[in-house]
Amino acid sequence: MAQSTMTREKEGQRSVAVVGGGLVGSLQASLLAKRGFNVNLYESRADIRSMTHVSGRSINLALSTRGREALKAVGLEATVLQDAIPMYSRMIHSVSGSTSTQPYGTKEQCIYSVDRRRLNEQLLTLAESHDNVSLHFSHKLTRADFTKCSLEFSTPNESFTVATEFVFGCDGAYSTLRRQMMRYGRLNYEQEYIEHGYKELCLPPLPDGDYALPPNHLHIWPRNEFMMIALPNTDHSFTVTLFMPFLTFENIRNEFELLTFFEEHFPDSLDILGRDNLTKEFFSNPTGQVISVKCYPHFLGGCAVLLGDAAHAVVPFYGQGMNAGFEDCLIFYELLLAAPQDDIVQAAQCYSDTHWRDCHAIADLSKYNYLEMRSHVNSRWFLLLKTMDSILHWLLPRVFIPLYSMVAFSRIPYHQVVLRSQRQRRLITIAMVTSGVSVLVCVVCVAMERSGAYNSLRYRILPCVAGCVLKDFYQQVTGSS
Ligand SMILES: Cc1cc2nc3c(=O)[nH]c(=O)nc-3n(C[C@H](O)[C@H](O)[C@H](O)COP(=O)(O)OP(=O)(O)OC[C@H]3O[C@@H](n4cnc5c(N)ncnc54)[C@H](O)[C@@H]3O)c2cc1C
Repeated sequence: MAQSTMTREKEGQRSVAVVGGGLVGSLQASLLAKRGFNVNLYESRADIRSMTHVSGRSINLALSTRGREALKAVGLEATVLQDAIPMYSRMIHSVSGSTSTQPYGTKEQCIYSVDRRRLNEQLLTLAESHDNVSLHFSHKLTRADFTKCSLEFSTPNESFTVATEFVFGCDGAYSTLRRQMMRYGRLNYEQEYIEHGYKELCLPPLPDGDYALPPNHLHIWPRNEFMMIALPNTDHSFTVTLFMPFLTFENIRNEFELLTFFEEHFPDSLDILGRDNLTKEFFSNPTGQVISVKCYPHFLGGCAVLLGDAAHAVVPFYGQGMNAGFEDCLIFYELLLAAPQDDIVQAAQCYSDTHWRDCHAIADLSKYNYLEMRSHVNSRWFLLLKTMDSILHWLLPRVFIPLYSMVAFSRIPYHQVVLRSQRQRRLITIAMVTSGVSVLVCVVCVAMERSGAYNSLRYRILPCVAGCVLKDFYQQVTGSS
């Protein structure tokens, strides 16, 4: 076994390894380089910057505040936003073809559609621009020995072992480093494949080159049991993603069945997708699976920590997987800044002790949001609650922040987002029930006044009884005594 590979190292500085050169690993390499570490990044694939076709997951992604803040920390935010398309609202497409919009936040707030491959390339190039970062492509981690903090890699030609001071596992949802950590110590692990898969389809530009749909929205065709979404690309196409149960995918076996299915559920999309294009894409593109991963702790063996999907793969329905992974890197960086002499072990311990709750919370929130996107957005009750959210946020901008805004437009830790949102929901329920009962009591009182019944003692008691009932209800909901 060879002992090492070509590295660019600054003398006298500490060396760390990053496993995985996807979105999170390449960002983490730049942040560590900024703190002066010599960084060796090992990626199992070849360099995507020199590949003609990169297979894998979603073509575009929604970037929001947490991700933007992390990109800002490495000076890449402005560059990334230059090529990003702002999406200010959801545009809902009903079966009849009518559309309506649901803003994501205030007029200025938006999420951005970004190209996954371009973003990854920009992050790799940035990492490589640091003279203390070495990128090693076609290097696959196969084993880790945490007692010596050594890592074994295989390349197309050889296998070798490297020793390092610390290792960051950014090798995605099926992380090898995580598996090695599980073999080594007490790492709890939970994974779930949801029963729905996804298929990406291309919605091309119109013949005149324009977008086939308004570009500044995230388009949703919610159909309760399944849904289709579309995010805009800079070449004026859209990437359409159809999420539905695997069984439904399997039941569409030929062109006739496919077109019948689309005519029934997404008739307005057929002309713009084009029947031939749809058929070709549907039957040639793979059906992806969606996994949710939770584990704890994220730091183990004294020298290894997990970040990004390796620590918390989430289903893609909140558009937070990458954003949460980027925020992991930023949080770790902030902890390093706070630790004496960049004490990496102290930062990792603190990261692991405090941040896991947020990772678990975003995994749960992401699962919930699938239901919201494919079903709730159709409901009048949901729209009423959304309107209440907006009014309360407008009246009390600091006290009341809608759930989506806390997730996408703030850096409030995800587990606090959940607690706060539950509290807010209780308050809205109280406000709505209180106003409903008050209106009812008034109506009854006025009616009785007019009929002369109000003079009866029995009916004068009614408002008192209603007051007691309300008080009791309030205590039940708030848990106060
Ligand atoms: C359909 C879909 C849509 C999504 N949409 C959004 C969205 O809109 N917004 C959002 O924020 N997130 C979204 N996500 C989630 C997002 O894609 C992930 O959270 C993000 O890619 C995680 O980045 P990562 O670097 O942790 O992992 P990955 O992107 O998986 O990168 C891991 C890297 O490690 C490498 N690797 C793996 N094993 C090894 C090994 N043994 N040795 C060396 N290298 C290895 C891999 O080749 C890869 O390059 C979506 C996901 C899906 C599936």
